[in-house]
Amino acid sequence: MNVETMITLALSKGRIFEETLPLLKAAGIEVLDDPEKSRKLILDTNLPGVRVLVVRATDVPTYVQYGGADLGITGKDTLLEHGSQGLYQPLDLQIAKCRISVAARADFDYASAVKQGSRLKVATKYVAIARDFFASKGVHVDLIKLYGSMELAPLVGMADAIVDLVSTGNTLKANNLIEVEQIMEISSRLVVNQAALKLKREPLRRIIDAFAQATAAQT
Ligand code: AMP
Repeated sequence: MNVETMITLALSKGRIFEETLPLLKAAGIEVLDDPEKSRKLILDTNLPGVRVLVVRATDVPTYVQYGGADLGITGKDTLLEHGSQGLYQPLDLQIAKCRISVAARADFDYASAVKQGSRLKVATKYVAIARDFFASKGVHVDLIKLYGSMELAPLVGMADAIVDLVSTGNTLKANNLIEVEQIMEISSRLVVNQAALKLKREPLRRIIDAFAQATAAQT
C-alpha cells in the first residue's frame, strides 16, 4: 500500500481504544490485533488501506499535528494541555466521558481557604487547565506537576488539593478525598491533520461522516 493513500489513525490503549471500536465498526473498520495482548505498535485492520497506531494518550495530538497519523482520538483534557495548533477538530465523539475536578482531603476546608484568599498548593498533571481555572477564580496557587497517582499528594501532606479526571468517583473515595469543585466536562474528540484532509479528502471524509452518524445514533 502506497503511503500517500494509506489512512493512519492514532489511538491510545484502554478506555479510548475500547470505546472507539464501535465507531470504527460503523465505518466498516475492524482492528485485527488486541493492543492489550500484542506488543505491536502498528495494528492492521480488515481494510488494507487503514492502519492504527497505538501511542501514549498525551502523544496523540503530536502524531496528528506532525503528520505521523492522519487522524486521532484524544480527550479534551489532553487537547487543552497540549494545545491544538494545526489540528482540525470536526467531532465531539461523546466517548470516554468524565469531568476534571478539584479534590481535597475531607479535613481540608477548601471553600474557606478560597474565600480567605489563601495560597493553595495544588498537585496535578493538568498544569495548564489548573492554572487557567484558578486564575479565572482569582485564587493564588503553587502548582506541583505530577505524572500520575495525584491522589497521593494530599494524603502525604504535599498538596492541599489535586486537579484530576473523575469518572465514577471511586478512586477519590478509596483515597478519602472529596470532589470539591468541578472544572469542566470532558469527552474525546476526533482530531485530523489539516494537510491530510486536503490530500486524502475522500477516504477521510468517509471515516469522519461514519463517525458522525455513529455518534449521533448513540446520543
Ligand atoms: P473513577 O474512579 O471512575 O472516578 O476514575 C478516576 C481515575 O480514572 C482517575 O485516576 C482518572 O485519572 C482516570 N480516568 C477517569 N476517567 C478517565 C478518562 N475518560 N480518560 C482517562 N482517564 C480517566
